[in-house]
Amino acid sequence: MDYSYAPWTDEEVKSLNEYQACGYVHPFTHCDHPLVATKDGWVCPKCSNSDQKWCHKWMANDAWRESALESEKLCSDPRVQKLQKVMEQL
Ligand SMILES: [Zn+2]
Repeated sequence: MDYSYAPWTDEEVKSLNEYQACGYVHPFTHCDHPLVATKDGWVCPKCSNSDQKWCHKWMANDAWRESALESEKLCSDPRVQKLQKVMEQL
């Protein structure tokens, strides 16, 4: 797995925070709060902890967007919705 370490550029911070907000898989958290990306690393909005200085490279370079879009498409596919309903009843 490739990691990227702070400091991050404006573009990377933007990509990270949009990733955190997009609901695609689970965001990075601290004390149950989604972390906020800054140039110098992650900050927890609740307790101000800022020990985490790394992310996956694909989170910072917009690579996640394509997969997020794919999974969104998948979820809105009626065949998938039907399958999910069936699974709920099991
Ligand atoms: Zn915290």
